Amino acid sequence: MFESLSERLDSAFKLLKGEGRISEINVASTVKEIRRALVDADVNYKIAKEFTDRVKDKALGEKVITAISPSQLMVKIVKDELADLMGGTAAELELKANPTIILIAGLQGSGKTTFSGKLANFLKSKGKKPLLVAADIYRPAAIDQLKVLGGQIEVPVYSEPENKNAVQITENALREAKQNNNNVIIIDTAGRLAVDEAMMAEVANIRKAVQPQEILFVVDSMTGQDAVNTAKAFNDRLDFTGVVLTKLDGDTRGGAALTIKYTVEKPIKFVSMGEKLDTLDVFYPERMAQRILG
Ligand code: GDP
Repeated sequence: MFESLSERLDSAFKLLKGEGRISEINVASTVKEIRRALVDADVNYKIAKEFTDRVKDKALGEKVITAISPSQLMVKIVKDELADLMGGTAAELELKANPTIILIAGLQGSGKTTFSGKLANFLKSKGKKPLLVAADIYRPAAIDQLKVLGGQIEVPVYSEPENKNAVQITENALREAKQNNNNVIIIDTAGRLAVDEAMMAEVANIRKAVQPQEILFVVDSMTGQDAVNTAKAFNDRLDFTGVVLTKLDGDTRGGAALTIKYTVEKPIKFVSMGEKLDTLDVFYPERMAQRILG
């Protein structure tokens, strides 16, 4: 994950090797390299610039700490700043309501259905009794896919293949959940290949009808800056509560993970690193920063 970024940052820190102390001159060249590395990892230039300005100010403002070298000091500053950029501390799911309703939204192919299965599995392992709801009224295959996933993790799946009204389906699902004492309801909605008004209106209508406690926006981390732009479009319309970054097991450069939180001011709550149902991870910005810096 983020191998290229890790290597490039490492090279930037090496520029300080052998230096006795931080100076305007040696910091300037290191910071420039860090900025280039971020931009090449698909971080928007303005965000990269602000980031490195902060790093520079911090480095130059440090008192001389004899215990650590300038390069070690730089690693520490960059690590803290990366963690901050990605959200600081981990953000938890809001699960107090009974039932808790979680709406899953995102583009087609982003990994919504897979994530819905993973989340159900995750919550089941925490003692919850989830119900999955197939609210994709356009693709019968999506309903079947969710049913297969539900079967694998032994979580019930509510669907009405003949009904073309997604709001009605979700309302009926809530009734069913009440009867069966399901305390978490995960609604997998329809996505399209690109942001479009009909899709947004449909998800917004479901949101209005069922008043979910959580609206999770699922996005493919491989899509870089597009992921960030899509997040903005969904957030403007849905005001979601958190982001799920998928396909982090792929050859992704890092831009989405690094800048979504900054751009939409909503936390990344989970990352998905594979197709298997047990690979869902809570997102910890500090651990991710640590991983990037190796
Ligand atoms: P949806 O259209 O948004 O519901 O997306 P799907 O859940 O059907 O996922 C689209 C494709 O991406 C499927 O082939 C999934 O197996 C795959 N996929 C989903 N999440 C991940 C992930 O975290 N890593 C990888 N490598 N593949 C994933």
